[in-house]
Order: sequence, then C-alpha cells, then structure tokens
Amino acid sequence: NGSSPNESETGETLVIGSSGFIGRFVTEACLESGRPTYVLVRSSPNPPSSKATTIKFLQDKGAVIIYGSITDQEFMEKILREHRIEVVISAVGGESILDQFTLIEAIKNVDTVKRFVPSEFGHDIDRAEPVEPGLTMYDQKRKVRREIEKCGIPYSYICCNSIAAWPYHDNTHPADVLPPLDRFQIYGDGTVQAYFVAGSDIGKFTVMSINDDRTLNKTVHFQPPSNLLNMNEMASLWEMKIGRMLPRVTIAEQDLLQRAQEMRIPQSVVAAITHDIFINGCQINFSLDKPTDVEVCSLYPDTRFRTVAECFDDFVKKISDKAKTVSKPVTASNSDMFVPAAKPEAL
Ligand code: NDP
Repeated sequence: NGSSPNESETGETLVIGSSGFIGRFVTEACLESGRPTYVLVRSSPNPPSSKATTIKFLQDKGAVIIYGSITDQEFMEKILREHRIEVVISAVGGESILDQFTLIEAIKNVDTVKRFVPSEFGHDIDRAEPVEPGLTMYDQKRKVRREIEKCGIPYSYICCNSIAAWPYHDNTHPADVLPPLDRFQIYGDGTVQAYFVAGSDIGKFTVMSINDDRTLNKTVHFQPPSNLLNMNEMASLWEMKIGRMLPRVTIAEQDLLQRAQEMRIPQSVVAAITHDIFINGCQINFSLDKPTDVEVCSLYPDTRFRTVAECFDDFVKKISDKAKTVSKPVTASNSDMFVPAAKPEAL
C-alpha cells in the first residue's frame, strides 16, 4: 500500500557512506523516520576528526555502527543476514562506484533485501550525457544499474538533481561552502534552470521513497517546481539575503569544457557535470515519459520542500554566527571581502 508510505514499514536499514556528504543527510533522515538504522563505516588508521564526530553524532541518535567495507563480500553477507537488513542505501563516493559490484553480489546471495538504493543522488544517468570525465562516472553508475537489474534485486534510483547551494564548478560538496561574497561566476548566460534541493530533503524524500511500493524498480526524480531556478535568479536571491550587489563574471561554455579536459579528479568531473546542467540543461531537457519514471512531488503532494531562500538563510546564519565569534570581518572560505551589510534579521 503506497498511500501512507512512512507509516507501514520500519524495516532494518543499512546505510553505507554515512560519514560522507550525501550519506549523512540520508542517515539522519533514516534515524528521524524511526527505522532501525545500521551504518557501515570503513576503518582507517588515521580517520579525519570530522568523520569520528559524524559517526559519534549518528550513534548518539541511535544508529548502530558496524565497521567494515563493502568490498568484503563474505562480511557483507554476514551482516545482512545477522541484522536481517531489508533496505540497503549506498552513498559511496564517486571513486567507489564500482565497489558496489561486491555489495550487489552479497545482496543477491542473501536474498532478503527488499530494496536497494545504489549511490547515484544526481541526474538520470541513463538520459544525461556529460563530457568526460563526467561520462566515465556515469558509465560506472550505469554498469551498477544493469547489474542490479540483471540480478533481479528490487531497487530505487534516486535522481535528486543539485544540492541547494551555490553551484561551484570545482567543488564536489558545494553546500559545505558559503555562496560567493566577492563575485558571482555565472555559467553561460545564466538562464538555464536547475533543481536545487536541500540536503535534508534529499535524505527525507529518499527515505520516504524506500517505504513506498510505487517507487519499486523505479527512477525517482526530484523536481519540486519551487526549487527550479537559474543562476541569475540564484545570484539575485543571494544578493537580497546579504543586502548588497556583487559583480557577475561569465564563465563561458568553453571555459567549463577546458576545466573538464584538464582531467583533474574530482574537479574535472564536477566541471563536466556543471557544463551538462547549466549549458546543456540536462535536468530540464527531457520529459518523464518512461514507465519507470516517478516524481516525488506527485508521490507526496502534502510534503513540502525547503526552498532555496530558506537554505540561503542557513548560510546567512553561518556568516552571522561566525561574525559573533571573531572580532574582524568574516572571511568566507571562497572570499576575503565580506563585510556584513545588514543585521542578520534584516537580510
Ligand atoms: P563522499 O566522498 O562524501 O563520501 C563517501 C562515503 O562512502 C564515505 O563515508 C566513505 O567512507 C564511504 N565509502 C567509500 N567506499 C566505501 C567502502 N568500500 N565501504 C564502505 N564505505 C565506503 O561521497 P559523496 O557524498 O560526495 O557522494 C555520494 C554520491 O552522491 C555519489 O554517487 C555522488 O556522485 C553523489 N553526489 C551528488 C551531489 C549532488 O549535488 N546531487 C553532490 C555530491 C555527490 P570513508 O569515510 O571511509 O572514506
């Protein structure tokens, strides 16, 4: 019964990649939904302190931590069986996409997983065609899809589009960085639209969709109309929030292609995908016309998405919080020219 997706099931869920950028949002949403949540964490000799902090935070919220790697098939089969895992959500990073082959093999052998969400969290990789090296990553994600389908594993593919933040073309985790405080770099003429979705909503709607029969073996598209903006609109919105205008510099298509051709990983992957979004319009140049397409706003019309304006308010709050703790003007990680123009409440 897909009509009350968050109420019917509370199956054991394993999240892989919880210490990562997307994985943390998904894990938090999973815990908030009340599902028994297991988190697979790779052991490393000198983990960054941020990883330990994230794991501790999730553990305090009720996550069960399991140390191990998806590349160990025997171990994965053991924990899937032992904890009777019904849902597996993978948010491994771009460099580990093919590691999921071993995980798929384990899921296939155990045969109790009711839903697998592979690491995608971007565009519909069967439709979009970015330049290299973005294409290589898409090819890897496509291989993972074909293997899941070949093995008959029940799945949902999450196409959540862009994270709500300034879309830096050289940063894989733009929501970790403040929007510009010195000048905007606008791709092309700045009129191509994209969907900017809050990280917390990526987590929330992913978790809602794994409980829902309507998303079984479907590609789940996140297309909230309220979050469809072009770069010029993003820039104006941010200017309104910080209470002043910033100069705009054009980054031409050729510049993005050149950044992609430099083959610096991961920056060139981001440049290739940025080109696909803001020049080719890969998030908006197709219709949801396949029988396997579903869209979250139609599935959950009563659940609202956080707007980009609200997400920008979070960045403004970070700036004002920082300003309170330092005596000199705030220095953004991408700018040294910020002087608060207005009181936060007036921004
Ligand atoms: P991160 O690199 O931030 O995190 C990856 C996580 O996976 C880490 O927790 C890492 O653990 C874990 N991991 C990697 N390999 C293994 C393994 N073998 N066993 C167990 N855990 C493993 O990833 P991102 O959040 O950047 O990327 C996740 C997905 O989201 C990707 O598919 C990416 O393309 C997509 N994405 C989408 C964005 C968007 O705006 N829509 C933005 C960024 C990413 P460890 O800490 O040990 O390294």
